[in-house]
Amino acid sequence: MSAADLSVQDLTVRYGSTVALRGLSLDVAQGSTLMLTGPNGAGKSTLCKSLIGWVRPASGALLWQGQSLAGLSPEDIAARGIAMIPEGRHVFGSLSVIDNLRVAATRRRDRAGIAADLDRLLAVFPMLQPRLQQAAGMLSGGQQQMLVIARALMGRPRLLVIDEPSLGLAPQVTDQVYATLRQLQAEQGLSLLIVEQSSRRAAAMSSPLVLLREGQAVLRGPASQIDADTLERAYFGDD
Ligand code: ATP
Repeated sequence: MSAADLSVQDLTVRYGSTVALRGLSLDVAQGSTLMLTGPNGAGKSTLCKSLIGWVRPASGALLWQGQSLAGLSPEDIAARGIAMIPEGRHVFGSLSVIDNLRVAATRRRDRAGIAADLDRLLAVFPMLQPRLQQAAGMLSGGQQQMLVIARALMGRPRLLVIDEPSLGLAPQVTDQVYATLRQLQAEQGLSLLIVEQSSRRAAAMSSPLVLLREGQAVLRGPASQIDADTLERAYFGDD
C-alpha cells in the first residue's frame, strides 16, 4: 500500500446543532481513487468542503502529505495541490470555453506552461477542441462536466475532489467522464476523491469505497469485496 496523500482523522463537523460528520476517518493513497457514497444528508459534501477550507471542522485532523491543513485558507489549500469541483457544474456560461480554461490560470505567470497545459488538456478532452470559441453555457451537460474537470486541472492539482460528477448525466455520458478520469489518473498519477450518491455507481469504479450514513462511515473496503446486498443494507440503514 502506498503512502496516504490525504488522511482524514476523527473528523467532526457541526452546523450549529446539526452534526454533519461524526468522527470520520479515511485515507486516500497517492495516485489512487476513493469513492465516497451515502444517502442524502450523510455528510459527503461537508467532507469535500472541509478539505478545501470552506467549512471549519469542530475537531479532528486533516493531513495532506503529512501536513495539517488546519486553519489554511481555500487559496492556501489550492496552492498545496488540492482542487474541488463542487456539485452542479459551475461553468461561466457566457464566457467561451477557452476563456473558462484561461480564467483558471489567471494567477499563473508561466505563459509557456499555460499553453502547454491547454494543449495537454485538449488532448485528454478532444470534444472541447472544436468548441473552444463557443459560450460554455451552450455545451451539453457532459461537455460542461468535462470542462469543469479540465478547468480544475489547469491549477495542476495532485488531488481532485469531485462532488457528484454524474449528477443529471445519462449513464453513457457518465461512463465517458469516468473513463477520462481513469485516463488522467493513469497518465498523471492524480489522486481522486469522488462523491457518488448512487452506491451502485460508486461500486462500479472497483476502487476503495467508503459509505457514509449520518456522518459516519458505516461500510468500507474495496468495492470488489462488497456484495450488492451488503451495500444496499448499509445504504438504507437496515443492517
Ligand atoms: P446531499 O447529497 O443531499 O448533498 P450530503 O451527503 O452531501 O447530502 P451534506 O450536504 O454534507 O450531506 O449534509 C450533511 C448534514 O449537514 C445534513 O443534515 C444537512 O442538512 C446539514 N447541512 C449541510 N449544510 C448545512 C448548512 N450550511 N447549514 C446547516 N446544516 C447543513
